Amino acid sequence: MGKLIAESAGEIELSAAIFDYYAEHGERFLADAPLKPERGEAMVRHSPLGVVLGVEPWNFPFYQVARFAAPNIMIGNVVLLKHASNVPQCAIAIEDIFRKAGAPAGLYTNLLIPGGHISALLDDPRVRAASLTGSEEAGKSLASAAGKNTKKSVLELGGNDAFIVLEDADIEKTVEWAYMGRMNNTGQCCVASKRFIVVDAVLAEFTKKFVARMSNLKVGDPQDKATQLGPLSSEAAAVHLMKQVEQAVKDGATVLLGGKRIDRMGAFVEATVLTDLKPGLPISYEEMFGPVAVIYRVKDEQEAIALANDSPFGLGCSVFTRDIARGKRIADQIDAGMVFINHPTWTAPELPFGGVKGSGYGRELSALGIEEFVNKKLIRVSALNDPM
Ligand code: NAP
Repeated sequence: MGKLIAESAGEIELSAAIFDYYAEHGERFLADAPLKPERGEAMVRHSPLGVVLGVEPWNFPFYQVARFAAPNIMIGNVVLLKHASNVPQCAIAIEDIFRKAGAPAGLYTNLLIPGGHISALLDDPRVRAASLTGSEEAGKSLASAAGKNTKKSVLELGGNDAFIVLEDADIEKTVEWAYMGRMNNTGQCCVASKRFIVVDAVLAEFTKKFVARMSNLKVGDPQDKATQLGPLSSEAAAVHLMKQVEQAVKDGATVLLGGKRIDRMGAFVEATVLTDLKPGLPISYEEMFGPVAVIYRVKDEQEAIALANDSPFGLGCSVFTRDIARGKRIADQIDAGMVFINHPTWTAPELPFGGVKGSGYGRELSALGIEEFVNKKLIRVSALNDPM
């Protein structure tokens, strides 16, 4: 899917860390939870549900699978995995790892089928629950099929994360985080920083330095370690992104950097910075899945919070300020599943991951992620001499 080779290595490390994390903590997370009834004994036991279905996207082809498969296998569920159609080699490599590791046959099985066939699977009584990471459209389709069959679903969908820069931010560091937040995985990341909301007082300085940081990237073969800007995942993705940029420009956006395709073979798009886009226009609500940053000017903190929340999505948000108490106060007012202070939205095995609104529901990773697909079964013991 065009990922830079250096980032690929990091993704594999992270995927292994997720398996290690659940191997280390799974027993504790899933231990019986004793209750205190008035008489006798009671507990919640964490039992597996059975067969669970994961539908995963191509943008982090190993990590996305790890965060679904590791906790579910730890619980004792059996995993069916429908990976994105453009990364079957990754799907096959993962299944192969399980086989080589000695996993029992059927513990983890790839379904090399198109997305359109997923709904029918949920009609099968053996499939007990499903999780999907991907677009809103696919999420709605899976959730409808799950709902129709009274089955639980978890959805991790798109985002349009705000990156709020306040006047007391450390601008040098913030610019570096802005670059990483936007350009990681060539911008094809659900929690990429997409809307840069900057207060007036530091707008000129931030913009100048951010545009400089996004400029003159080494474009090339993603297999070459020196490459800083690789291709998007597909030609269709590049065409769609350019349409969105054209629409933004038609709607009044100014192009500060890039804005075009790169003239070479492959789905290459220039690192792009837009500004002057009026909030409230349909294009400002769309997720741009690639190396395109949009800078918004706001007067102050209150305006920044209001604009950050003016989105159909609610995945992540980041706030840059030297005043941590202020950052936490703002975090309280942000309508998103994750808020990071002085760091772009990120992921780690021990941190819960997920969103609200159009970004989906449920959580993956951490102790919360392992609780999604368990039967929290009550076991109640009455003593034989209890009164009737
Ligand atoms: P997509 O088209 O929705 O594909 C994701 C997965 O869903 C693929 O396996 C796809 O299979 C499958 N699929 C497609 N249509 C389906 C349907 N009607 N029913 C069931 N499954 C279906 O997503 P994308 O556009 O390639 O991926 C990017 C999106 O994923 C972005 O919006 C991004 O923000 C989001 N994302 C979210 C997170 C998160 O954790 N919140 C993480 C990563 C990405 P086929 O490939 O066979 O079509």
